[in-house]
Amino acid sequence: MLRPIGHRDGVDCGGVDPGVDRGEVATTTCPSCGYTAPVYGGSVESRFRASAECYAAYQELAAYNLTGGRRDFIHQEAVDAYAAQHPGPPAKPMATWFGLVGLHLALDLGRTGREVQQAHMRLARRRRHWPELAAPADLTGMVVADVMQQPADDTRDDALWRWAGEVWEHWAAVHQVIADLCADQGL
Ligand SMILES: [Zn+2]
Repeated sequence: MLRPIGHRDGVDCGGVDPGVDRGEVATTTCPSCGYTAPVYGGSVESRFRASAECYAAYQELAAYNLTGGRRDFIHQEAVDAYAAQHPGPPAKPMATWFGLVGLHLALDLGRTGREVQQAHMRLARRRRHWPELAAPADLTGMVVADVMQQPADDTRDDALWRWAGEVWEHWAAVHQVIADLCADQGL
C-alpha cells in the first residue's frame, strides 16, 4: 500500500520528538478521497470537492504530465481519475460523467489519452443535460498524492494507472450505464 506524501514517519526531525511534532502539525483531510496532509497554506481554489492540499497535489501531477516529451497524453487519465474521485459541488455533474467515460474508454477499451480527449469533445457537442450521479459511499484508497510520491519515470505512470483503476472500481454500480452511453454515442 502506498502512503500519501503527508505522512511524516521516518522524517528526520532534528531531535524533536516526532510524536510531539506530529501532534502540533495541523492537517487537513480531503472530503472525497480522504488524503490527509499537513496544511499547505496555498491560496488556489479547488474546482473540485477536495482539500486545498489534495488539489495542490493534483496540480503538481498535471504540471508533470504536461511537460514536454510525455508519452501519449497520459494527462487525460489523471484528469478523469481525479474528477471521478472528487464528485459533487463545486464540480458540475458533467465533470463526473466525463471522468467516468474517460476511465471506461481508457481502461476497458484501451483508448489513448488523445482519443479520450477527442471523445470528450464529441460528447460535449452532442449532449447537454447531465443528471447528478449518486456517488459511491467510499472513494478513499489510493490518492493523487500517492502517484506524485513515485519517482518521475515509468514508476509514476504505473502508479497513475493503478490509481485510475481503483477509482474506476469504486464506481462499479454505474459501469454498465457508462458503457452503454459510450456505445450509444459511438465513442
Ligand atoms: Zn482528494
